[in-house]
Amino acid sequence: MIKVSIIGAGTMGSGIAQIAATKGHKVCLYDSFDGAIENAQEKLDKILNRLVEKERISKKEKENILSRINFTKDIRNIKGSGLVIEAIIENLEIKQKIFKEIEGLVGTECIIASNTSSLSIASIAGACQKAERVIGIHFFNPAPLMPLVEIIPSIQTSKKTLEKGRKIIDNWGKITVIAKDTPGFIVNRVARPFYGEALRIYEEGIADFATIDWSLKELGDFRMGPFELMDYIGNDINYTVTETVFTAFYYDSRYKPSFTQKRMMEAGYLGRKSARGYYDYSKDIPEANQDRVLGKRILWRILSMLINEAADALFLNIATKEDIDLAMTKGVNYPKGLLSWADEIGVSNILNELEKLQQEYGEDRYRPSPLLKRMVAENKTFY
Ligand code: NAD
Repeated sequence: MIKVSIIGAGTMGSGIAQIAATKGHKVCLYDSFDGAIENAQEKLDKILNRLVEKERISKKEKENILSRINFTKDIRNIKGSGLVIEAIIENLEIKQKIFKEIEGLVGTECIIASNTSSLSIASIAGACQKAERVIGIHFFNPAPLMPLVEIIPSIQTSKKTLEKGRKIIDNWGKITVIAKDTPGFIVNRVARPFYGEALRIYEEGIADFATIDWSLKELGDFRMGPFELMDYIGNDINYTVTETVFTAFYYDSRYKPSFTQKRMMEAGYLGRKSARGYYDYSKDIPEANQDRVLGKRILWRILSMLINEAADALFLNIATKEDIDLAMTKGVNYPKGLLSWADEIGVSNILNELEKLQQEYGEDRYRPSPLLKRMVAENKTFY
């Protein structure tokens, strides 16, 4: 079994180290910042203790997992790795610098992966001499619990790296999907309207937070409403992802960030972690207006925008239809794949809704994907 090294022992890095060590790999977990390694070690110990208490693993297994991990502040200990996964700060120059350093320490067969959420894999790989061994391996938070992993080959990545890299992650019991090296990959791109359109509906005064959340949960079977979910993720993090995607898409109005969310972030109303976001968690959550006609209008508008985004990702060959549906059900727990949902509703109904919105608002934001138009003209379904 290959040795796996993780660069950066923060939220994602320590989670990925836990998975690899649980699957039997020798793991090197490296971080350069004071206290980070000690923190990761302490946290992992706590997590494993909880698993022992819940009888998910034995005490012996816990000890074995920990004994496989070399927690280190010396990057030279990554020598001999078959796979290195980088999970440091989201900054291109710093990532490029560390990729050069990694390449100088590992053998020519070692795969070097980045867990980046928003940077292009091509730009990170561009710093390496052997760019064909670089790939994106994008886990979701918390890594040990979320089943989905997006695998992102860049234009430099070799077929061998893609096949070998994907196989390792499949063997870790994860569900892998392949995404093109474009902003937000699959999930962080297709999910944008879940937040953006909900915020827009609120800003227009159509409904309050609680009513919009109720519509999506009660009538759409989503596990969480958009405002609950933004509060859970953190308005700072969610806003930054939207802004990054918006900028990376050359200011396409489909991904335009919202002032409502920006003000939340500026005020420090970050969500659950600050006990206040769209909701004040020291008080009871306000009652929703359970008007089913209004609720359906809200659900219908957000769902049409989500399906449009999924269809456009397929239109632009970001991933296969199966992978797009799998990504949204396994990466963000959507109740159904968006493209199979479109078939169920009727693609022409979705197109009608989008055309109505586009006509009403006159905004490019509501432009239907050419794929939806083509499918309706040819009377086709996704599956
Ligand atoms: P984090 O801040 O929790 O951890 C980053 C760690 O990297 C810190 O421990 C820091 O000390 C260390 N670090 C920073 N610069 C370093 C350097 N030059 N050398 C060595 N160590 C260094 O961040 P995170 O949330 O774990 O995110 C890490 C990466 O994963 C980012 O690229 C992020 O975009 C991506 N990601 C994050 C999430 C998420 O929900 N948090 C999900 C998917 C992907």
